[in-house]
Amino acid sequence: MHDQFGRKIDYLRLSVTDRCNLRCRYCMPEEGVVGLSHDDVLRYEELLRVAAASCRLGIRKIRVTGGEPLVRRGIVGFIGQLANLPEKPEITLTTNGIRLAEYAPGLKAAGLSRVNISLDTLKAERFKSLTRREGLEQVLAGITAVEKAGMLPIKINVVPLRNVNADEIADFARLTLEHPWEVRFIEYMPISADLDFAAEDGLPMAEVEASLGAFGALEPLPRAEAAGPARRYRLPGAIGQIGLIPSTSGHFCPECNRLRVMADGRVRGCLFDDHEIDLKQVLRGGGDDQALEALLLAAACGKPEKQQLKNSGKNAPRRRMHGIGG
Ligand code: SAM
Ligand code: SF4
Repeated sequence: MHDQFGRKIDYLRLSVTDRCNLRCRYCMPEEGVVGLSHDDVLRYEELLRVAAASCRLGIRKIRVTGGEPLVRRGIVGFIGQLANLPEKPEITLTTNGIRLAEYAPGLKAAGLSRVNISLDTLKAERFKSLTRREGLEQVLAGITAVEKAGMLPIKINVVPLRNVNADEIADFARLTLEHPWEVRFIEYMPISADLDFAAEDGLPMAEVEASLGAFGALEPLPRAEAAGPARRYRLPGAIGQIGLIPSTSGHFCPECNRLRVMADGRVRGCLFDDHEIDLKQVLRGGGDDQALEALLLAAACGKPEKQQLKNSGKNAPRRRMHGIGG
């Protein structure tokens, strides 16, 4: 499947819920979050039908996301069904790690390939203030469990924010000296107005890169197949890697290979573009698989050439990141 600018679309981000057991201050407000109703959320059979149609169109990697995907009951079985689709897509997961220790062995057995774990601080008190919940110990236990289960390489996602966790960039980077992990710094994206941070609170990747200079010269690594937008480096003597993801300052739109399907069955071609197509009209209106594929193709064709931070489509719900899936 290609879009109108010739980009090959082979990566689907599939959000299975907009709910979460944390309240990260850069993602969700403290109060007033109205979740999707039970009826609005696609059933697993419906999500599987979307995934199957996507794979027939050429999707080869599916990242399960949320909200927090591990809070949805039945998630391990669903991941097993995704992994067993005829095209055998690669299945990956993005999670806050809170329930990973419990789920890691089952996820591995179900066919999950790899896990990205979001963790923005290594300090328990700060974790509590940034996520508005307890849980650092659980996340760290989750990372150990993923390692033990052999779902490698582990990627740790960090969103550096000024006056919040920017002073921990070196601590996170240092993890790669002793662990074969990829620590990925992701630029803060100011996509909703009701959060605690403004655009200026996010650290541009150029600043992160400059601060890593204290470790010595960074060794640039070749772009891995399907590495996505991360520029990858190795610190001198490290066994792990550093990824820098300039979500807003970077210009990786020409290489964008993604579609995003959200828990309510709407599909969007770009994280920053509110234009969406509702797959429920087919899923719940008796439409056949061809009709479903046609809508997915239309979403791919409608991908904008470049990100435009405030481009709001008609009739689109305004979403925060927990509703899109990152
Ligand atoms: N709950 C899971 C987690 O946190 O990994 C999956 C969903 S979360 C929305 C996916 C990713 O989006 C996380 O790595 C999170 O740090 C990132 N994210 C959320 N809000 C963001 C923002 N405003 N800017 C940049 N990244 C953000
Ligand atoms: Fe939840 Fe992930 Fe958003 Fe944090 S970033 S509130 S863990 S969805």
